[in-house]
Amino acid sequence: LEAKYWGAYAQTELGHGSNVRGLETQATFDAATDEFVIHSPTLSSMKWWPTGMYACTHAIVFCQLLLGDGSPSRGVFGFFVQLRDEHGDLMPGVEVGEIGPKVSAAECNIGYARFDRVRVPRSHLVAKHIKVSREGRFQAAPPKLSRYKYIGMMNIRVMLVRGASVACGKAATMAIRYSAVRRQGFLDSQAANALASGEAAILDYGVQQRRLFTALGAAYLLLWTGRAVVSQLKEIVARVEDGDDGAADALPEMHATCAGLKAHSTTWAAALVEDCRKCCGGMGYLRSSGLADLSTSYVGSVTAEGEAVVLALQTARFLIKSVAQARRGEAVAGATAYVSDAPLPPQDVARWGDRPGSSARIGALVALHRDRARRVALELADDFDAATASGLGFDAALNSVAVAGWHANECHCAYVMAKNAQSAMPAVVKDDAARAALATLLEFTLLQLVEEKGGDFAGATLDTSQMRAVRLATNELQALVRPDAVALCDSLGYSDAQLGHSTLGREDGQVYEAIYDAARRSPLNGTRMVGWDVLSPVVDMEFLRAGARTQRQGNHAPPAKL
Ligand SMILES: Cc1cc2nc3c(=O)[nH]c(=O)nc-3n(C[C@H](O)[C@H](O)[C@H](O)COP(=O)(O)OP(=O)(O)OC[C@H]3O[C@@H](n4cnc5c(N)ncnc54)[C@H](O)[C@@H]3O)c2cc1C
Repeated sequence: LEAKYWGAYAQTELGHGSNVRGLETQATFDAATDEFVIHSPTLSSMKWWPTGMYACTHAIVFCQLLLGDGSPSRGVFGFFVQLRDEHGDLMPGVEVGEIGPKVSAAECNIGYARFDRVRVPRSHLVAKHIKVSREGRFQAAPPKLSRYKYIGMMNIRVMLVRGASVACGKAATMAIRYSAVRRQGFLDSQAANALASGEAAILDYGVQQRRLFTALGAAYLLLWTGRAVVSQLKEIVARVEDGDDGAADALPEMHATCAGLKAHSTTWAAALVEDCRKCCGGMGYLRSSGLADLSTSYVGSVTAEGEAVVLALQTARFLIKSVAQARRGEAVAGATAYVSDAPLPPQDVARWGDRPGSSARIGALVALHRDRARRVALELADDFDAATASGLGFDAALNSVAVAGWHANECHCAYVMAKNAQSAMPAVVKDDAARAALATLLEFTLLQLVEEKGGDFAGATLDTSQMRAVRLATNELQALVRPDAVALCDSLGYSDAQLGHSTLGREDGQVYEAIYDAARRSPLNGTRMVGWDVLSPVVDMEFLRAGARTQRQGNHAPPAKL
């Protein structure tokens, strides 16, 4: 391991997380010495949450940039600050600590930091497009670049969408492999000799399939979406760098969609990972399963890098804006263009075609999700307009429709994911049989979302009889996914090591051997009970001795195969 220095990202404070503009740490320019003075003026301004900071030598510390002339803050910017010296001791004026145990025992150190008038050179302001001159004059970024500045943030959010795919993929792999091995419940419980009928693999149970195939489908859906957004971003950046300023017009929508996708994908994945854990019954409660640790370590992603609700509401604001634009007769570009669509006519599921996973059926589902996103966005905008018309200010009006806004983001993301999967999957998967299996899984995933969120479709595009048709079709599809389920997990390509040597998810299926082996490694497991010295004084020794005289090991049955 070699490094020039280790750095932490120190933005969040004890008193402010989501409200980045409200951060209190100050960086005040001192023209006399050409330095910034980094200072934590209050307890609540202490940096709180920077990942890995305890073991870092440096941090980018986000502060209100003050020019020291009494003028208001020029905004929040990062400053490069050294935390530790060559001996690992804290630098003068710096206090760094560890915040304590978190939900996940596997979580790395997360720190706090406080700065008492720490002076750093002017050049330690980390900003490409803004400047503070030697005389202390502030030069803002050119307006054109202000939209461009979000690209770094978007890249991180797309990484988190891909992370959500990885979490779902690993959880589904572990739980589906285990469910293919685990047998529980008689094949014919009504038979005179039920024992002789044999037991069913738990993967053959309907509810188990629904839960696990949803996680598997989500893994692929999020994988394709992550890929599609990365390539869209790359294309925009390349065009902007080639001098096509107009390409940057797509950025606000991309920014809103990336925020929404981060919120939706991490929330969805956290729920699905935990559900995969529950699907393994008691074994999923064992840490050796790998699922318990995955669930507790993954859940932090919902909050880190932008709290889910706060990001979803940013997307909701963008949707409201897009609807207003469409209503003014202006063109709406990008993924929210659906706000200008005509309503989709009522659907007849039977007419989508009878080949599972066909492009006609997937196309119909993408259209259905698109129309749901449109309708829900329009309703959100109507409610928001009514709230402002009643006299509420912008923030109060937005808050009054926040629940609808959260939901509108979910609908927007479902459509974006469906659209991205529809275009990415055929391009990426060349093998016909693999494509057919994936298309079936994709159709199942999109259709089960329709079933689960039936209320959004009922009365608009699907009537009661059509909702019943959706239910039946979803059931048929999950039965079709079943034979390929393990192979679809295998093709995600997670090695046993990447699955944390999960006892349940191992590729060779030797789950019981692995569970027993892991249990045996407990330091408690010997013949003599650990703690006997302390506990034995309260036990009736005469009773134990009498029992030991009547119980023995015999040779009636053949020895167990272990
Ligand atoms: C595992 C982990 C790692 C992290 N790593 C880092 C790191 O390396 N560096 C760093 O700087 N930070 C880090 N963070 C902090 C993280 O960025 C913040 O936790 C996050 O931004 C949310 O801020 P908060 O915790 O203050 O929550 P709050 O902002 O207080 O949110 C609490 C609740 O209030 C709601 N809420 C807040 N504002 C609004 C609003 N405007 N509208 C509606 N609802 C609202 C939220 O939805 C949430 O339910 C990490 C956090 C975690 C969990």
